[in-house]
Amino acid sequence: MDNIWSDIKVELKESLPSHAYNTWFEPINLISHTDAELILEVPNQFFYEWIESHYRNEINNTAESLIGKNINIKYTVAPEKRIPLESNTAFAGKIVKNQYKPNLNRRYTFSNFIEGSNNQFARAAALSVAKSPGQQTFNPLLVYGGVGLGKTHLLHAIGNYILEEKESARIVIASSEKFTMDFISSIQKNRTVDFSKTYRKADVLLIDDIQFFQKKEQTQEQFFHTFNDLYQQGKQIVMTSDRLPQEMNGLTDRLLSRFESGLVVDIQPPDFETRVAILMEKAEQNGLDLPYDTVEFMATHIKNSVRELESTIIRLLAYSSLSNCEIDFNLVKKVVRERLGNGAPIDISANDIVKRVSEATKITEKDIIGSSRRMPIAEARQISIYLCREIMGSSLMDIGVQFGGRDHTTVLHACRNIEKKIKIDKRIGYLVRSLQQDLTFSLI
Ligand code: ADP
Ligand code: MG
Repeated sequence: MDNIWSDIKVELKESLPSHAYNTWFEPINLISHTDAELILEVPNQFFYEWIESHYRNEINNTAESLIGKNINIKYTVAPEKRIPLESNTAFAGKIVKNQYKPNLNRRYTFSNFIEGSNNQFARAAALSVAKSPGQQTFNPLLVYGGVGLGKTHLLHAIGNYILEEKESARIVIASSEKFTMDFISSIQKNRTVDFSKTYRKADVLLIDDIQFFQKKEQTQEQFFHTFNDLYQQGKQIVMTSDRLPQEMNGLTDRLLSRFESGLVVDIQPPDFETRVAILMEKAEQNGLDLPYDTVEFMATHIKNSVRELESTIIRLLAYSSLSNCEIDFNLVKKVVRERLGNGAPIDISANDIVKRVSEATKITEKDIIGSSRRMPIAEARQISIYLCREIMGSSLMDIGVQFGGRDHTTVLHACRNIEKKIKIDKRIGYLVRSLQQDLTFSLI
């Protein structure tokens, strides 16, 4: 019986994820036991509630299976211990002068945030908050949008701006994960007071990626109190999220209504012009001299996030300096292809090609894959076949199947014929080249 708690722990350690075990079971001490009862000491009330609500069954079942009968498990809360502050937590850097030396990334400023119609409103709101934090209408400010679109950048820009204006401003910036970790660790170490002090004494609280609060009720609870406290004191709160608050699952209603009570602004993926602007700016920052057509090419194909645009530039830079080669169209193409996935033809089919040829020649798609041998129709068909071979690299057989079950010699004949005509017939040469360029552009 003496070792029963150790035995239970061994079992739990095997059955639970290690972070859960380390967080919630390592700190528990055995106080006493009889053969009908086990008394365990937990660091605090919250800990007890957490264990009761999350692990009650695991503990009871494990105990029962080891002892062979039902046993009563009771908890007692350890007397509060004060542990001096360490410097490697949220309270990091709590030294001299401004004790709130926040973890701001100095590179993220308003001045290097490139504005486009996709982020104009978010940027304006962020700047307004930075200029007069705590103003009712923009409090809280919630910026939401997809990955890599500049939410974190704006959040840090606000912090940097405020700090620039007022060196003593107490700015606390944390991801919601860090907030959660700090909260849990403060509970484990009985330092909830310090936790509150740090977060609730902020002039400006910047919380990144609040979607991680989903389903973490205790943390939400804590955040709710922190939030109210600050809000009532007229302190500014800014949050980012990758989705709208109402799209978050497992968010308590009252927190949801808090999130929505201020201003919610979104950032959309950048449009073409903004992508060009971002690429040129980032290229310049990196001392990279890019021909304009390559910039357009990149902006055409890399669409989803600013982070991707940025990393394409970095990759180009790496390539050209490592292999000591000029950045020309081929290199850019290669890098873009690589970024979009392995250089294999993507997202294009014989249908796409036929469609494009049909648009250009005004011959219907049906006619192109049909059997008419009339000159303009047969020519459009042969051009389509040639392009399938050139762009998709399809086999003669496959192409034959796509074009109404023609055999491979017919396909080969079509390819040869067009190859020849390109050289001698300007009109066809031009048509095929421009179609090929068009399609290749959309391909990569
Ligand atoms: P998110 O937090 O929305 O996922 P980030 O703020 O981390 O995105 O942005 C990803 C990268 O793109 C960062 O390096 C950031 O500086 C850069 N970035 C994003 N938007 C812009 C912009 N409008 N102008 C300049 N750089 C930007
Ligand atoms: Mg981010």
